[in-house]
This record gives sequence, structure tokens and C-alpha cells, in this order.
Amino acid sequence: MIAENFSYAAPSSIQEAITMLHEYGEDAKILAGGHSLIPMMKLRFASPTHLIDINNIPGLSYIREEDGFLKIGAMTREVDVEDSELIKSKYHLFGDATKLIADPQVRNFGTLGGNLAHGDAANDHPAVMMSLGASVIITGNEGSREVSLDDFFHGFYTTAVEHGEILTEIKIPVAKGRFGSAYHKAERKVGDYATAGVAATLQFDESGVCNRVGLGLTNVSPTPMRVSRAEELLMGSRVSEQDIAAAAKMAAEDCSPSEDLRGNVDYKRHLVKVITKRMLTKALGRAK
Ligand SMILES: Cc1cc2nc3c(=O)[nH]c(=O)nc-3n(C[C@H](O)[C@H](O)[C@H](O)COP(=O)(O)OP(=O)(O)OC[C@H]3O[C@@H](n4cnc5c(N)ncnc54)[C@H](O)[C@@H]3O)c2cc1C
Repeated sequence: MIAENFSYAAPSSIQEAITMLHEYGEDAKILAGGHSLIPMMKLRFASPTHLIDINNIPGLSYIREEDGFLKIGAMTREVDVEDSELIKSKYHLFGDATKLIADPQVRNFGTLGGNLAHGDAANDHPAVMMSLGASVIITGNEGSREVSLDDFFHGFYTTAVEHGEILTEIKIPVAKGRFGSAYHKAERKVGDYATAGVAATLQFDESGVCNRVGLGLTNVSPTPMRVSRAEELLMGSRVSEQDIAAAAKMAAEDCSPSEDLRGNVDYKRHLVKVITKRMLTKALGRAK
């Protein structure tokens, strides 16, 4: 199908884009990579009357460590993450995740900010970022505010980004000491959304005790989720094989998948258990 008619504007600053959002009202939408929004417009699931393209705004694409945080600009594209030496050297779960997202064409355009702002539990970055303890910077007329990803996803396609605001940055505490992370999703075919996916992050102090843990799940709950019970179990432990098995069991119990064309509830819980075990084991190996 062809999308409904819309007007198009390409502002050259964040402030100009915010002013346009206010001017055009609730029917205006930000256009980033367009690889979620345009398909939705063509299917007439979304019919914004105004598109505000933020691709011409400078300074929104970067990956750097600064002030104790890994900072990623909202317009950073999947391909930039795939190619980043900093990411490749320290934050291995991004490499795991990006190569499982769609295909190179989508990854050349899709942005990390868009992947989160879309608010879809089937997208891969929400679980990845949650496991890393990320927060986002949201900018509006009143300035910028920081929102933890734990409080970011409000419902299906609904996030903490209010009308008149733009997600501008993702902030992740830097990896310190023995740090390991991993992501995997089971998919029906290459490039598909997850049947179930798991992101695991572990960090250890010098004596081998776990002092940072994150476990995020993809597409097995209405909104992206962390498995807090399993995280609490692993925190402060040495992450033994038994700990991993217990955490995987908790992840399978605590998720709330629904039956669809990708599988039934029991199958998805089973996948969560198996993948959680594998990703925690992989993160542990990488931390060593
Ligand atoms: C064939 C195909 C397969 C795909 N497979 C996967 C997959 O396996 N895993 C996966 O994670 N994704 C997948 N995607 C989605 C893809 O990764 C999208 O690029 C991503 O979800 C959205 O990023 P975008 O930059 O394209 O955002 P857009 O499509 O431009 O925007 C998406 C939404 O977010 C809003 N938005 C975007 N940026 C901002 C911002 N900075 N501030 C506020 N609001 C903003 C827009 O207004 C819109 O509502 C797939 C897409 C396609 C077409």
C-alpha cells in the first residue's frame, strides 16, 4: 500500500525540530532511519500528517566513552555500531545483536535511538540496553531529562518520550574490570524478529565476585523486560554453573510470552531458559 499524504520538513537543529513538533501538533512524527516508521505508514498502521526528518541535524551520531559512560548519539546507525572499534573491544553483546538485526540494508539506515523510541518489545536493542543498565537523554523545550530504560517503555509502541521531545542520547555505565556480555535471539529465519532473545551482562571485582549484572529479554513480554529476580541471585555471587542454571529457570518463569505464529508459550519459555543459560555462560567466558 502507499502511505497517506504527509508534509515533510528537515530541520537543521534539535531546537528547530522541537519547535516544529509543537507547531504541527500530535500528528507530527520524527523520522530517523525510517525502517520501522515507513513500513507502518505503508501498512496504514501509522498516518502522521507531518514527518520531521532529523537526519540533517549534526552532532547526533557518535560512540564515545566520557565521564564514566559509554555515550551513543540517537542517530548512530546499526552499521556504525558494527564498525566501532570501541564497541568491538569491550561491549561484545552489540556485535552479537547487530548482526542479528534484519539485513545490511536496514542496518545501514536504522538508528539506535529509533530502535528504542519505537517502543517495540520485539526490537533487539531494548533488551541489550537494559542489560547494560542504560538510560536515555530526552530533549524538549524545557531542556533535557534522563530516564532509566527501566522506566522508559510504557506499553505497546509507547515510551517516556512525550510529544514535543526527541531522544538524543543513550548513556551506559562504562565497562570496568572483568566485564563480559552476550546476546542471542532465536529467529524463524535470518533477519526475522526474535521468537525469544536474551541479553546478559556480567562484571566482576578483582576477587571474582559479581558486582554488576543485567539480564534483558526480547519479545517474551508486552514491554521489554529485565529479570530482576535472577539479577539479584547473581549479584554478589561468583556465578557458578548452579547459579546460572537457577537464573535461567527464573528467567523462564518470570517472562510472560504470548502464543503467536512464532510459537506457543511453553516453547518460548523453554527458549528463554536455554538462551539465558548460554548467554550467561558466554558472558562469563568473555569476562575471563
Ligand atoms: C525488514 C526489517 C526487519 C527488521 N528486523 C529487525 C530486527 O530483527 N530487530 C530489530 O531490533 N529491528 C528490526 N527492524 C527495525 C529496524 O531496526 C528499525 O530501523 C528500528 O526499529 C527503528 O529505527 P529507525 O531509525 O529506522 O526509526 P524510524 O523508523 O525512523 O522511527 C521509529 C519510531 O521512533 C520514533 N523516533 C525515531 N527516532 C527518534 C528519536 N531520536 N526521538 C524520538 N522519537 C524517535 C519515530 O517517530 C517512529 O515513531 C527491522 C526493520 C525492517 C524493515
